[in-house]
Order: sequence, then structure tokens, then C-alpha cells
Amino acid sequence: MDDVRNLIVIGGGPAGYTAALYAARANLEPLVIEGFNWGGQLMITSDVENYPGYADGVLGPAMMQDFRRQAERFGTTFLTDDVTRVDFSERPFRVWVGDDEYRAEAVIVATGATARQIGLDSERVLQGRGVSYCATCDAAFFRDKTVVVVGGGDSAMEEASFISRFASKVILVHRRDEFRASPIMVDRARANERIEFVVNKVVVEVLGEGSVTGVRLHDTVTGEESVLETDGLFVAIGHDPNTALFLDQLDHEPDTGYLITRGKSTETNVAGVFAAGDVQDHVYRQAVTAAGSGCAAALDAERWLSEQRHAALSAGLVVS
Ligand code: NAP
Repeated sequence: MDDVRNLIVIGGGPAGYTAALYAARANLEPLVIEGFNWGGQLMITSDVENYPGYADGVLGPAMMQDFRRQAERFGTTFLTDDVTRVDFSERPFRVWVGDDEYRAEAVIVATGATARQIGLDSERVLQGRGVSYCATCDAAFFRDKTVVVVGGGDSAMEEASFISRFASKVILVHRRDEFRASPIMVDRARANERIEFVVNKVVVEVLGEGSVTGVRLHDTVTGEESVLETDGLFVAIGHDPNTALFLDQLDHEPDTGYLITRGKSTETNVAGVFAAGDVQDHVYRQAVTAAGSGCAAALDAERWLSEQRHAALSAGLVVS
């Protein structure tokens, strides 16, 4: 069928664009449905200093422009809109954007994950200006500073410990006095003399004009409000994979919704549908690991398409 493409990539972050780059260079002429807010989590990151190749660092949005441009250079087509529905029950696979239907022999799902936000207007305004969702990325900007970390899970403990290598003081703020984190992680953080625990408190406002200067806290037991001075706020309250569209069709972890891929491959439970990047990885969650995973997905998809073509040729069928 003429209107059936080789490959559709769903998602416009490091995984999706890298998948598109490799697929385009393999002459698969991919269509990337990149989402209305393309670019993913890097779009709310300011300086990126840990992506190899950018020796002087790069701004997150500028880096995603580069990724996109590189994929475009080799013949990727982009659709800057959100996928609203998919049908992976038979081939060609069908993907909808509103009423418009797109079909392809193979699909790579690279819709990423979203860091949970506290949900404050002031938090949004100061994103990338002292409010961060990634300690690995941003801790080094807080050398000898005071930093607040919000959360009570393993991520919050791990991030507080990591940030304490740079910051002179880390204040871990949690909304209860019991921790979801494993006891060993809590003990390790408690033993760290740079980390201070503040419990039964929620952040109700991030303070500062242009950069973070403090947070306003609300005590969940007494109802009292107080202000804590800080140079930065790391929100470590979990991530949600962007998998709502796929849950009825692709195998996923029951509790978290992360897609399940087979072994070291990017194969999902549906032959011809691959998953790459944070949508199937809650462990590493870095731009560089997502890009590597996108590359693997394109190679897997290319191999799979070529096997299908050979099988069709030997059976005397023609696949477009
Ligand atoms: P998590 O286990 O879901 O913990 C989220 C934490 O954030 C909870 O303490 C929760 O409080 C708090 N929270 C949620 N929404 C909040 C809000 N709106 N305001 C304030 N606090 C809020 O998430 P995670 O820590 O990212 O861990 C995710 C998974 O990865 C876990 O299975 C974890 O074990 C794993 N992990 C493991 C390691 C490791 O072993 N090295 C490191 C990182 C993550 P409540 O407890 O009150 O709900």
C-alpha cells in the first residue's frame, strides 16, 4: 500500500530523534510524530554539561534543536503534534493524530517520562533557574551552596547524597515522618553530616526573582508556615512514563506503567513495535542513555523490516 511507511517514531526527545537519525540514514524515511511540546525533559533544563561532545556545555533546548536538525538532514519528516490513539493489533500498525491516520510497518515508541512536579506556579517559573528535577545533571552548579531536596523515596535519598558532594548543606524536606525509601538509603543519608532532615513539611511556594532564594514551607501537623533560605530546589518525587496510549496494547510494569522490552533489545511484546529511552528505563534516565537506546531501536527496527522483506520475497509477496 502506497501510504504505508516503513517506520513511525512516536516521541521527540533524545531517544526519538536518535532513532530517526539512524533510521533516516538507513533510508527508512521515518516519520517522527514528535509531540506538540517536542524536545522532552531537556526543554526544561538549562545548562547540560554531561552530554559527550559538548565540551563547553549546551543549553537543553539548543541541544534538542541540534538533535532534530541532524535527523532532518537525512530525510526525517516531522509532525509537531500529539498522537491520540494507536492500533498495534495488526500490520500495518495504525497511529492517529486526531482524525488523521498514519500507517507503518514498524513503530518505535519513544515518548519518554515526565518528572513529577509539586505543581506550584512559582516552581514552573523558576525551572532551570534553581529548580531542578535531575541531580546528576545539575548538582555541580550548587558547589558550596545550600540546596533543598523534596521527597522521601530512594531517589530523594540518592539525590541528596549525590548533591552533598558539591553543596555545603542539603536540606531534605519530606511531607511525612516516615520514609518510602529503603532503610539503608535513609541511614546513609542520615549519617551524612551535610544532610539535614526536615519532616512533616510541604513546599507551598518557591521564592526568588530570576533565581531561587528560598522556599515557603507548610507544616502538615501544626499548619504553621515558615521560610527556608536556599539557593536551589531539587524535586525528587518520582517520574511517570508517558505510556497511557499504549497500556492496553504493550506489556508494561503493572505498578509503574514503564514499557517492558525483551532482554537487551528494544523489542516489545508486539513484533515490529520497539520501545526506546525513558519510556522503558527508570534506572538510568539520562539523555545519553536515551539516545543510545534510540539508536538500538532503529537498528532493531531496520533488521526486523529487512527480515520481513526477505520473508515476503521468498513467499512471492511484495512489501512496499
Ligand atoms: P517513589 O518511591 O514513588 O517516592 C516518591 C516520594 O515522593 C515519596 O516519598 C512521596 O511521599 C513523595 N511525594 C510524591 N508526591 C509528592 C508531592 N506532591 N509533594 C511532596 N512529596 C511527594 O519515587 P522514587 O524515589 O523516584 O523511586 C522510584 C523507584 O525507583 C522506587 O522503586 C525506588 O526504589 C527506585 N529507586 C531505587 C534507587 C536505588 O536503589 N539506588 C534509587 C532511586 C530510585 P509519600 O511517601 O508520602 O507518598
